Amino acid sequence: MIRIPLDNAGGPKMQDYHHDNQCTWCDGCGDYGIWTAAKRALVELNIAPHEVLLCYDVGCHGNMSDKLLGYRFHGLHGRVIPFAAGAALANRNVPVMAFGGDGASFSEGIGHLVHGLRSNYPMTFVLHNNANYGLTLGQASSLTWQGQPMNTSPNGIPERTLPSMDFVFSLEPTFVARGFSGNIDQLTEILKVAIKHRGFAFVDVLQACPTYNHFATHDYLLERCYDANKEGHDPSNFAAARKLATDSSERIATGILYQNENTPDYYEQLVARQNVKTQAVDEVEKKDVSAWMKKFV
Ligand code: SF4
Repeated sequence: MIRIPLDNAGGPKMQDYHHDNQCTWCDGCGDYGIWTAAKRALVELNIAPHEVLLCYDVGCHGNMSDKLLGYRFHGLHGRVIPFAAGAALANRNVPVMAFGGDGASFSEGIGHLVHGLRSNYPMTFVLHNNANYGLTLGQASSLTWQGQPMNTSPNGIPERTLPSMDFVFSLEPTFVARGFSGNIDQLTEILKVAIKHRGFAFVDVLQACPTYNHFATHDYLLERCYDANKEGHDPSNFAAARKLATDSSERIATGILYQNENTPDYYEQLVARQNVKTQAVDEVEKKDVSAWMKKFV
């Protein structure tokens, strides 16, 4: 279980996460909403920038890495989950959030997503789901709608759209939520629950990309998204959650879709760490290896 600090003298404020670097996202980009919700969730959980690790994949969203304070890592394309998981396992006193786009997470990094979910690493994964590769000028990703004309595929791609939520549920996740970049209040509440989740929290955020995504636009999402929890959805019901998550033909269910706090996370299942009071990071020792290195010169 992630340990959230209870006593933050004075409590962090939104401005504590502020960075003077100017945002470079396009006007109307959903990244602004996710950025704001992440900040608000951390502040409302009383987590100061020096108490959290924020990890970013490559993509438009990754430009958040120098716009939001906190301990930060900006890695290789598709590789944010293994780094974030390693950090989360090394020091369980620091909540870890990883941010990735739909391109990296469901293509280059899909193997890491599989193992993040099946391993139940203690971390939050936020999917910036704008259904295209925005940073590289609007190519189709595996979540772009089949046949949708994009910059490098003007006739649309022939591949079927990857059924992302069905895929996620097939790996028996312990936490799945869906938000919308245009509903910051709801996304803030979702992220607060996700950050406190016992294992791997998968948060799909449907994100407007007005520059390249002309199909699932802000208005399209605004019209269709509804709060399933307010309509009585029980997040402990796996089958109902899967059905809601995968059927977006008319309306799109958002909110906490599935939550299971009874399954131990990866660390808790490590036999060698049972009854160990220290964090792995505390056990690192400095050794002088200069004599040993001389053997190789
Ligand atoms: Fe946002 Fe799309 Fe512009 Fe990237 S290309 S900054 S995702 S609107």
